[in-house]
Amino acid sequence: MSKVKKVLIVGGGIGGLATAIALQKVGIKTEIVEKQKEWNVYGVGIILQSNALRAIDALGITEEFLAVGTTHSALHIRDSQGNMIFDAPIHPSGQFNITGGIPRRDFHEILLQAAIKNGTKIRMGITVEMIENGDSFVYTKFTDGTSGTYDLVIGADGVRSKVRNMVFGDIEPTFVGQAVWRYTLKRPADLENITMFYGQKAKAGIVPMTKDSCYVFVVTAEPGNPWKQEDQLHVLMREAFQEFGGLIAELSEQITDPKEVVYRPLETLIVEKPWYRDRVLLIGDSAHATVPHLAQGAAMAIEDALVLSELLQKDEPVVDILNEFMERRYERCKFVVDNSNTLVNWELLQLEGRLPKENNPNAIVAQSLIRMTEVI
Ligand SMILES: Cc1cc2nc3c(=O)[nH]c(=O)nc-3n(C[C@H](O)[C@H](O)[C@H](O)COP(=O)(O)OP(=O)(O)OC[C@H]3O[C@@H](n4cnc5c(N)ncnc54)[C@H](O)[C@@H]3O)c2cc1C
Repeated sequence: MSKVKKVLIVGGGIGGLATAIALQKVGIKTEIVEKQKEWNVYGVGIILQSNALRAIDALGITEEFLAVGTTHSALHIRDSQGNMIFDAPIHPSGQFNITGGIPRRDFHEILLQAAIKNGTKIRMGITVEMIENGDSFVYTKFTDGTSGTYDLVIGADGVRSKVRNMVFGDIEPTFVGQAVWRYTLKRPADLENITMFYGQKAKAGIVPMTKDSCYVFVVTAEPGNPWKQEDQLHVLMREAFQEFGGLIAELSEQITDPKEVVYRPLETLIVEKPWYRDRVLLIGDSAHATVPHLAQGAAMAIEDALVLSELLQKDEPVVDILNEFMERRYERCKFVVDNSNTLVNWELLQLEGRLPKENNPNAIVAQSLIRMTEVI
C-alpha cells in the first residue's frame, strides 16, 4: 500500500464521486469539497457505453444502475427520414456487449449514495482558496476559513477547473463550433436502442433512459457561439429538427417547455501530460473534456478513478504511481478527445458539402467504441 492515506477531492461530479468510492473501497480516507451549496445536476440523460458499464460494475453499483436505467443492444444510424444507414450490434468482444442510458440526476444520486455509504466526507458550498503543494504533503485552505493537510489532492472540478488554474496555470477549453440541444420525453413503446439520424444541417438522436423515458437531442453548427434567448429555446430546438421526418419529427413536436431544453455549446480540452504537479492530480474533465460524439466523457472519468485506486495500493513512491497513472490514462483519453474532435470537424465539413467521400464518420464511431471495450 502506498503512503497515500488521506485524499482531498475537489468537485463532487461523476469523476469526483467515482474516485471517492474507489479510494474508500481500498481503505483511503477521502473528503470531497463541492462548490455548489446544493446538488444541481442538470436534467436529461447520459449514455454509458460498455466500458462505462464495466467501470460502474467495478465500483459495485450495477444493481442500482439497473434499478433505474436501461440498456441497449445496438446502435442504429438512420438518414433524416428514418431509413437505416448503419445497424451496428454493440461490439460483442467487450465484457459487456450492451450500452446503457440513465437520467443524469439519478446517476449522480447513485454515485453520491455509494460514496456516502463508503464513508466519504462531503462538504458542500466550499472550495479551495489556497493550495500549498509539496513533495511530501499538500496544505489547503478552504473558502469557509478551514484548512487541511492531505497526501494527495485531486482536481475533479470539471472543464473550468479551479485546481487546474491554481496549479497548472491558464489552460482553457476550446469551443468546437457546435452545440447540442436535449429534451426529456416519454419513451415510445417500441424504442429499444439508441438511434441517430443524419441530416444535411444537423445530427439528431433518441436515447432510451429508463423504461418510461428517453431524451431527444440535436447537434447543430453554431459558428461564433451565438447567445440564445432562453424563453425561445423550445422554438429554436424544434426548428433545428425541421429537416427530419418520421419518429424524430413526431417526438420533436412535444418540445414545448423552454425551461426543459438543455442547450450546451460544445467544448474540448486535453491537458498535456503529466496531469500532476507534486501531489496534485487532475482527473476527469479537468484534465480531458470531450464533446459527446462518442459519449465517453463520464466513462473516462470513472476509469481514471479505478486506475488510480488500483495503483495507490502499490507500495511505491507517489511520483512513480502518478507516472504509471499517466502511462495508463493519457493515450486512451487523448484517443477519445482526438476522435471526437475528428467527428466534429467531419460533421462541419459535411454541412458545407466538403467532406471527402473516404471520410466515414460511422467507421470512426465503430472503431473507437471497439477500442474502448479493451480492458483498461
Ligand atoms: C452535452 C454533453 C453531453 C454529454 N453526454 C455524455 C454521455 O452521454 N456519456 C458520457 O460518458 N459522457 C457524456 N458527457 C461528458 C460527461 O458529462 C463528463 O465527461 C463528466 O461529467 C465529467 O465528470 P467530472 O466529474 O470530471 O466533471 P463534472 O461532471 O463537470 O463535475 C465537476 C464537479 O465539480 C464541481 N466544481 C466545479 N468547480 C469547483 C470548485 N472550484 N470547487 C469545488 N467544486 C467544483 C461542479 O459543481 C461539479 O459538481 C457529456 C458532456 C456534455 C457537455
